[in-house]
Amino acid sequence: MKRTLDDLAVFGGTAAFSEKLYVGRPNIGNRERLLSRIEDMLDRRWLSNDGVYLQEFERTVARMLGVRHCIATCNGTIALEIAIRALGLSGEVIVPSFTFIATAHALQWQQITPVFCDVDPRTHTLDPDCVERLVTSRTTGIIGVHLWGEAHHVEALEALARRRGLKLMFDAAHAFACSYGGKMIGNFGDAEIFSFHATKFLNTFEGGAICTNDDALAEKSRLMRNFGFAGFDKVIYIGTNGKMTEVAAAMGLTGLEALDEFIDANLANYRSYTRELEGIPGATLRTYDDTRRQNYQYIIVEVDEAVAGIARDALVELLHAENIVARRYFYPGCHDMEPYRSLYPGAGAGLPNTARLARQVMALPTGTAVGEAEIRTICQVVRFACSHGREITRSMNSRAPEATGEA
Ligand SMILES: *Cc1c(COP(=O)(O)O)cnc(C)c1O
Repeated sequence: MKRTLDDLAVFGGTAAFSEKLYVGRPNIGNRERLLSRIEDMLDRRWLSNDGVYLQEFERTVARMLGVRHCIATCNGTIALEIAIRALGLSGEVIVPSFTFIATAHALQWQQITPVFCDVDPRTHTLDPDCVERLVTSRTTGIIGVHLWGEAHHVEALEALARRRGLKLMFDAAHAFACSYGGKMIGNFGDAEIFSFHATKFLNTFEGGAICTNDDALAEKSRLMRNFGFAGFDKVIYIGTNGKMTEVAAAMGLTGLEALDEFIDANLANYRSYTRELEGIPGATLRTYDDTRRQNYQYIIVEVDEAVAGIARDALVELLHAENIVARRYFYPGCHDMEPYRSLYPGAGAGLPNTARLARQVMALPTGTAVGEAEIRTICQVVRFACSHGREITRSMNSRAPEATGEA
């Protein structure tokens, strides 16, 4: 319990937790099921290349999402790269800057210019009016990002893409098992991609997938995932190696069996955070739209320094000292990182909402590794920090430089 400034670990007090609490500790399903699948694949000596677990994983995901095709890959970034290439994107593609860097890198990696667009401050996703203003004669597509698992403005983006003859893709890395307008995410635009990285809602250690209802695009993506091989010794296309291994698919299948548990744990945590963060001055929990299917994987708080008296960055530093490893998702915004910062130095001018969110947003620990007791303690620290923000800020600023741990 923090009662005075001296209780805070940044000022020499005892940390609230003896071990670090992380955002996105992996969700792990039933160990025995996983190990028996691994035993089986070792017995059969089939570890990659369209194995039985891979096929079962793809079929199960496609059925669950109600989508025609699921092409599983070795990670989400390769899924983005392959989908971008299979869709024939070139020139300029409009993307949000308020996203994980891979969304932009997947374009720049293949000499396509990511044109950074601002987000709707309410939804944290692409603002369709802003997208429209950025369309030029070189624009070939739009990649929206369903940040925190929630899709927004999908109809407006689809209409805009149709009207301007553009391809539309979604980076749905956060949005596995989420729905929009009564349909599962995975069905929107020309293609949607998922990430099954260890820290994501569903994980395959590392992994990803392209989902689409377009048969030709699916066929092309499959070829590209496997060097363009259409059969033994027969390459008909340029490709890369984007294959998901059997052990990854086995992990994915095991996770799928535990999906309801993962959701229940995340939802219980979200409810605890909702209750415990209630009424804290300047710290606002981002709420989920409960009318949709959600995975509740991200606990997102906007910190308003003008009200809390403490800036997000100082609050994150304070929390880290307590062994609460809060994260600045997504700071500083893709346009402000290299190579984009140097390549497109003017990009920041049109991104006021992105700039504010990158300054104010933090993610707090959740997932199956965190429970109600931890959340109560985390929120007590946040409440204390935001209720004594000005004093804390003054004291943090007046610490000797070597005491900040930044030397
Ligand atoms: C995690 C993530 C990716 C990249 O996925 P990997 O599987 O780590 O390659 C892409 N976009 C977003 C928004 C992500 O959060």
